[in-house]
Amino acid sequence: MSGSKLQIDGSTALVTGASSGIGRTIAETFAAQGVDTTICSREQGNVDPVADEINESDAPGRILPIECDVRDREAVDRMVARTVDEFGGLDVLVNNAGAAFKCDFDELSENGWKTIVDINLNGVYNCCHAAKDALKDGGGSVINLSSIRSQEAAPHETHYGAAKAGVNSLTASLGNAWAADDVRVNGVAPGFIATPGAVTVGDTDPDEIDRTTVDRRIGTTDEIADVVEFLASPASSFIVGEMITVRGVPTFTEKPD
Ligand code: NAP
Repeated sequence: MSGSKLQIDGSTALVTGASSGIGRTIAETFAAQGVDTTICSREQGNVDPVADEINESDAPGRILPIECDVRDREAVDRMVARTVDEFGGLDVLVNNAGAAFKCDFDELSENGWKTIVDINLNGVYNCCHAAKDALKDGGGSVINLSSIRSQEAAPHETHYGAAKAGVNSLTASLGNAWAADDVRVNGVAPGFIATPGAVTVGDTDPDEIDRTTVDRRIGTTDEIADVVEFLASPASSFIVGEMITVRGVPTFTEKPD
């Protein structure tokens, strides 16, 4: 495969939830490729420093920071319109904004259930629906962040697992529906990734993780951003409607004798 096929198709992107963690690394990766990228989070004060740092670096891509809660459809519409105004179009949408908390199902409030479904699933609907005309204008790519929790039992995260399973289904259905408009829709389902948020739970220093070690079950944000970059590039041209699991070494349970 020639290296040029990994160059991201088109020149503009929108990454939701990019004030920290995986979204921030995706924005840095895109900017390094020369992709002009809108980033959003719920607080302008959280995305501004990310934009400042990237815009003041040598990265050829420009970052536009916007305060936008993906649950708020009108705010999402305004964000997409501003992106198109500023950059002249939208080629790549990364639905990364997400949230989770652990709670047994029996203790889970209706508000807790709805909040997690709202951010992780309805937010993806809002962004895809708001961006559909811009993406179909010249073709594009959508990458949805799911989770391995969508594929297996998650007794303390029923709400999160169910919402992400909805994202998997939406990814397959939209992949089919938008193919005729030259828009590829795919997703990434990470395992445990050492983001600042996850680190407080898992007690792992992301800087200690060695990418060259195969035998791991904790990944870095770069290892997700690289797969997102691949899915946004022509190197993945025949991948449509797929969810790529990125979890390191698979678990294996011995059968009892
Ligand atoms: P993170 O570090 O907690 O970052 C989440 C980002 O989403 C932040 O920028 C946050 O910004 C933003 N956000 C939260 N709610 C939002 C909303 N309603 N509207 C707009 N932005 C919002 O998360 P992460 O670990 O990088 O995870 C990124 C994605 O990967 C998520 O979809 C997550 O479910 C998925 N994932 C992560 C892991 C992991 O181990 N880290 C594993 C599997 C899947 P503000 O707080 O500033 O709004």
